[in-house]
Amino acid sequence: MDNDIQIRLIQEDDRVFLDMPDSPDNPCISCGACCQHFRISFYCGELTGGSGGFVPVELATMLNPVMACMKGTEAGGARCIALQGTVGQPGIACAIYANRPTPCREFPTWFDDGSPNPDCQRLRAAIGLPPLQAVAPAQAGTDCCKPLLEGEPAPPYAVTHALNRHQP
Ligand code: SF4
Repeated sequence: MDNDIQIRLIQEDDRVFLDMPDSPDNPCISCGACCQHFRISFYCGELTGGSGGFVPVELATMLNPVMACMKGTEAGGARCIALQGTVGQPGIACAIYANRPTPCREFPTWFDDGSPNPDCQRLRAAIGLPPLQAVAPAQAGTDCCKPLLEGEPAPPYAVTHALNRHQP
């Protein structure tokens, strides 16, 4: 695959967040398998409300005093409350994509060497989707971002680095 399919956003603390563009080459827009498989747990400071975070608190369940998870995923093996559409079908989407929690931002479809995430391959196979193909390795890093955690607009994709980025 030779398109703009996975965008790496480097945080100030060097964590790598990943965005998937609204492109026909984005395999996630007809998958969603991961969003109905894992328990999506994260630090409660990411919640809106008193914590001052960005994940809508009404969509989360507290697991303990410091950790929360997306509703529906408490035990794993069930879909996240924010998942909209039919898994494995075009149009599947996250209703809170811009405000999704860290584990969703950190889950790669492809690794830096261009190999597909084996979890994607396994989960895709389980819902009858074909395996992902390897892509070219990620380009060397340039910048960005932090805005996703600060509520600022995300930087233009052109200033981020990505796997196989080709602007049309
Ligand atoms: S918050 Fe969005 S990306 Fe994360 S598991 Fe739920 S539907 Fe998927």
